[in-house]
Amino acid sequence: MILILLGPPGAGKGTQAERIVRMRGIPQLSTGDMLRAAIASGSALGRKVKAVMDRGDLVSDEIIEEILTERIKAPDCAKGFILDGAVRTVGQAEMIDRVLKKQKKELDVVIELVVDEEELVNRLRTRIAEAKKAGRPLRSDDNEEVFRNRQKVYRDQTAPLIPYYEKQGKLRKVDGMGSVEEVGAAIDGALDASD
Ligand code: AMP
Repeated sequence: MILILLGPPGAGKGTQAERIVRMRGIPQLSTGDMLRAAIASGSALGRKVKAVMDRGDLVSDEIIEEILTERIKAPDCAKGFILDGAVRTVGQAEMIDRVLKKQKKELDVVIELVVDEEELVNRLRTRIAEAKKAGRPLRSDDNEEVFRNRQKVYRDQTAPLIPYYEKQGKLRKVDGMGSVEEVGAAIDGALDASD
């Protein structure tokens, strides 16, 4: 099964992707994680994307195409994979359609986590306070100003994917405001229905 998890920053895509990995045994492809690993390794790619990510803006579609097309070819993706925050513009969605078609594969389903933006900001504040208290490091884009920009970028550049996938008949909306278990169960229902 090939699926996309869509939803604004902080909606819980990563947490839900990890759950699907455990339940279905397919890998989670997070371009955010891949880019953060590039930054941590000090590679040329990492140096190129750091400032853009720290502002909460999107890296170019070309960079995403480069890292995703390679990753998708790996043997562990043969039975499917989860694109977690990995498709963020209509250009990237068209690219994925093209790449999959070349490999004679097809996207099965797109899960949109529907959440309330103000509630996400509240959750971020709690996360920051808890991390500070526990002395845990925070992501460099985890502060309120950058977070609000990431929400705006989502509204402007990623939300147009919703009608794009609706037209393809692949979009399933899931209420993302419940507990991890409740949202997980709703996703399971949507995935079972499209098996
Ligand atoms: P994430 O961990 O998914 O929230 O991504 C963190 C940051 O990485 C984003 O704010 C973007 O700067 C960058 N990023 C991750 N995935 C993409 C993508 N598919 N397209 C463009 N930028 C991305």
